[in-house]
Amino acid sequence: MPPKLDTHIQSLPATIPFVAPERISRETGKAFVARIGANEGRFGCSPLAIEAMQKAAIDNVGVYGDPEAYAVRETIGSALGVSIDEITIGSGIDGLLGHIVRIFSAPGDDILTSLGAYPTFNYHVAAYGRQLHTVPYRNDYEDLDGLVEVAKNLRPAILYLANPDNPMGSWWPAEKIDQFIDAISEDTLIILDEAYGETAPEGTLPALNCDKPNVLRMRTFSKAYGLAGLRCGYAIGHRDLIAQFEKIRDHFGVNIMALVAADAAFKDQAWLQKAVALNQAATARISQIALTHGFIPLPTATNFVAIDCGQGADFAKQILVSLADHGIFIRKPMTPILDRCIRVSAGNSSELDAFEAAMNMIMKDLK
Ligand SMILES: *Cc1c(COP(=O)(O)O)cnc(C)c1O
Repeated sequence: MPPKLDTHIQSLPATIPFVAPERISRETGKAFVARIGANEGRFGCSPLAIEAMQKAAIDNVGVYGDPEAYAVRETIGSALGVSIDEITIGSGIDGLLGHIVRIFSAPGDDILTSLGAYPTFNYHVAAYGRQLHTVPYRNDYEDLDGLVEVAKNLRPAILYLANPDNPMGSWWPAEKIDQFIDAISEDTLIILDEAYGETAPEGTLPALNCDKPNVLRMRTFSKAYGLAGLRCGYAIGHRDLIAQFEKIRDHFGVNIMALVAADAAFKDQAWLQKAVALNQAATARISQIALTHGFIPLPTATNFVAIDCGQGADFAKQILVSLADHGIFIRKPMTPILDRCIRVSAGNSSELDAFEAAMNMIMKDLK
């Protein structure tokens, strides 16, 4: 007899929310020359973060990190004007999302998100046996009014919203988000995923308000900070929400390299500002390339551009596959209507040179 399996886990398919370019390369036997599909920061990271990791590799990697991540929480908290008790650290937003589903809902509970929004959240919802409900995007925006409307009757345990959004890159101004939060009943936990907060225009992120009893704001070192491989993110919210994580989190799950690098990177806001400027130039260039081919680049507050290729999903898929044949890794939305687009991350200049050249080649054949 094999070991006993949880019956719910047994019923689930084994899936990976995002198939990696490494896997595609293993299957095709070809390396990618441009890795512009996963929205990773492609402009390096703060040299102070590298220095901190080098030092830790010699001095500290043999010991357990501080399970309270005190130093980095203190750094972030004092810069943002929130108390250390209002911040928790995790292995990326992805890791924290799993904790949140586990903490703030029970098996069978209703959970609300947008149709085609960030899939790793849905993966955790399925894993914990919660019931996922979705509201379609409206004109490539997450539909705030639609979410409020559905939430009124559904009374979901958790509501997930990314602002700015992935995969479309759209965003709502802070006033709209504040109104949205106020319109949701306080017995629903709102996850406000701000993975792209650093690249969003001023006026996008609502002021931090940790008095609100039902909102968790999610931030990460994976995008603008250029440290996706580090696996470090954090949540900010009411201290009673944050305290719950202490009951279940893996206290040594954020490793010592992540603790020192996150702290150093956060302190280096001058580097971040340079990266944000490079990001802006890169997304502008991607948009320009799209226009050259008669496509519509959607406005973006993120480190990627969703490009409306003007025809259906099959055409967008063809472009994605042809780009892969030319060594360019991109991704695309999978949900109908959104799936007419491809999604191209803000690569460094050699990656965007390769993207531009590949587009010129493949569009000759596809037209
Ligand atoms: C990239 C992304 C994440 C992942 O963040 P990690 O901290 O790397 O886990 C979370 N949410 C959204 C919306 C993202 O696009």
